[in-house]
Amino acid sequence: MDRTCPIKHLSILGSTGSIGKNVLQIVAMFPDRFIVEALAAKSDVELLAKQIRQFRPKLVSLFDESYANQLKKRLPKDISVQILFGEEGYQAVATHSRVDMVVSSMVGSAGLLPTLAAIQAGKEIALANKETLVMAGEIIMQEAKKYNVRILPVDSEHSAVFQCISGQRKSDVAKILLTASGGPFLHRPRNTFDSIQIKDALNHPNWEMGKKITIDSATLMNKGLEVIEAKHLFDISEQQIEVVIHPQSIIHSMVAFQDGSVIAQLGIPDMKGAISYALSWPERLPINQPVPDFAAIGRLDFERPDLEKFPCLAHAFNSCRIGGTLPAVLNAANEIAVQAFLDQKLAFIQIPDVIGQTMNCHQIDKQPNLSDIKEADQWARHQAYEIITNIQNSGENPV
Ligand code: MG
Repeated sequence: MDRTCPIKHLSILGSTGSIGKNVLQIVAMFPDRFIVEALAAKSDVELLAKQIRQFRPKLVSLFDESYANQLKKRLPKDISVQILFGEEGYQAVATHSRVDMVVSSMVGSAGLLPTLAAIQAGKEIALANKETLVMAGEIIMQEAKKYNVRILPVDSEHSAVFQCISGQRKSDVAKILLTASGGPFLHRPRNTFDSIQIKDALNHPNWEMGKKITIDSATLMNKGLEVIEAKHLFDISEQQIEVVIHPQSIIHSMVAFQDGSVIAQLGIPDMKGAISYALSWPERLPINQPVPDFAAIGRLDFERPDLEKFPCLAHAFNSCRIGGTLPAVLNAANEIAVQAFLDQKLAFIQIPDVIGQTMNCHQIDKQPNLSDIKEADQWARHQAYEIITNIQNSGENPV
């Protein structure tokens, strides 16, 4: 049997982040399967220069001109690569003519426009940037349908669901069960949350990830964003999505069917599994991941999420149910609140307050177009800043 597979030409939006680095590790393991055509990063010039030397893309883009100039100085003369910057540069990376698949792995709302451009250019998408679907899920899924573009999930939970439903009839699906580790504060008493420090929140028990998503995991906002992501990706009502706390993170998510049967996808908690599956679907690559040692793990535990202890999850479910511009507002307020926490301008326990207050002040547009969504995003950022400034002025200082 002929086992040769066509070479896939890749573009990676967010190549210096946690997902991007993992993608490139897999690419390096299978040089006869993948060619890197274009890379986009925000500001990590040093790492991008290293990636250019190793993978020889034809085009790269950075956040602004000063980073682009820094990169030019770092590269040896014999390397020819086109260096762009800004929104146009990111769009060029996302739509490069030789690219088959775009890995969308920028952090936060920055991923939306380049991902949309990639879809409109007919590129297959490996989607890690959940904010794209949170902000503009309806528009993104409509455009994907219009341009006949497949979106393959990179988020481990959605990859799990995707694997569990393949070969099943959609009408047989009763429920999606998204698992959550519960983060570092699962069993910490609520009355000690006011003393949570940045280092405590960055100390995730199971997963190695970037800073923003690690804080989102500690507040359970990450799971909330994943609920919204799942709703769009699998075209299912939020009432059919349930979050189950599973501290061992061995079950990456499950799907329940109308006969009561449940299919789960399991593996060790390492992003490489979901990433490689998205890159090579429907094939599986021999990436040398160990099979979980079940006897050593001993037991798999489950519990319900505590929405009073983790109000961010409740905010996310609300915004998902109401829809319109509200999920974009939730997302923007969360980005600002998390950054303020990381900058020591806001206490951990105040993150959900900032998000809830921002959502309460918002005039929801039920059927937004892309510019309404961008406007709601900008409005929410200013509103969240203002709320944080008020908290600071009121003397409720962060820890
Ligand atoms: Mg996830």
